[in-house]
Amino acid sequence: MSIRENIAHIEQQLQSKARLVAVTKTKPVEVLQQAYEAGFRRFGENKVQEMVEKYEALPKDIEWHLIGHLQTNKVKYIAPFVALIHSVDSLKLLAEINKQAGKNNRVIDCLLQIHIAEEETKFGLSEPEARALLESEELIQMHHIRIVGLMGMATNTDDQAQVRKEFRVLRTFFDSLKSLPNERIQLRELSMGMSGDYLLAVEEGSTLVRVGSAIFGARLYA
Ligand SMILES: *Cc1c(COP(=O)(O)O)cnc(C)c1O
Repeated sequence: MSIRENIAHIEQQLQSKARLVAVTKTKPVEVLQQAYEAGFRRFGENKVQEMVEKYEALPKDIEWHLIGHLQTNKVKYIAPFVALIHSVDSLKLLAEINKQAGKNNRVIDCLLQIHIAEEETKFGLSEPEARALLESEELIQMHHIRIVGLMGMATNTDDQAQVRKEFRVLRTFFDSLKSLPNERIQLRELSMGMSGDYLLAVEEGSTLVRVGSAIFGARLYA
């Protein structure tokens, strides 16, 4: 199937319950161009430099989502144009995003990445860490950021019950935060689900699925 058909198929499955972020990491600009010509405008990248290069090469009406780990010293490169940062995992990073967003006269939408998988290697905050961040005094002063939701990656396993359980944990935590009174926080997005588990994620309340290989085919690396 073509890229156009894959996107159409997935969007039909999502039934407007969740929006599709097409994960284009490692794919050349020509591949993104094909998706663009099919009418698609929402791309996810996991590396800053790659995202900047693609941003510069492609039309400017694309919504760019940073889905991978973000280092503080690289925020400045994406602050002028990034639509949503899915991977915020510290107050220090948030402070830098706020600073760089301010320089660009922008308010940047962010998600807190929550650790839900069994694997040790994945980034993310624990629930108490995330709650502490959301309740911190510093956050109230960050006028150039808005925390619009949470992101999580399930364990990479064929065990559907395990994956569903992890998504449900994230959803439950998300629901428990909704009453937090703070003008920086407007929780409405739950970024969960990838090629192997996006249907399950939508059943568990995902509003943004991050799908790469199911659209573009397998990646050679990363
Ligand atoms: C690569 C990646 C995806 C997409 O993975 P696929 O299995 O190819 O759909 C989703 N989220 C993050 C954070 C990724 O790094």
